[in-house]
Amino acid sequence: MADDIIFTLRGIKVMQYISCDICKKMINSPAHGRNYFTVRDKHICKKCKHAADREIQDKFEAEGESYNFIEKKDQYWAEITERCE
Ligand SMILES: [Zn+2]
Repeated sequence: MADDIIFTLRGIKVMQYISCDICKKMINSPAHGRNYFTVRDKHICKKCKHAADREIQDKFEAEGESYNFIEKKDQYWAEITERCE
């Protein structure tokens, strides 16, 4: 019993905890590129990343601009940081 508790505590210690900078929720079993993404120094869960990508793309398209991530990466970053606040 005691051994089990120690093992669990060790498990928690070595586990990497990452929380989403947008929704502030903990990401379970973080796997980069799978269930979370990194935009500069921000960690973003899959759900927020998809939602942000869609909204940012819609915003550019609504302004009559074509969406090109490379061209728009500064604006993309600005939109992401805005969501992280
Ligand atoms: Zn999130």
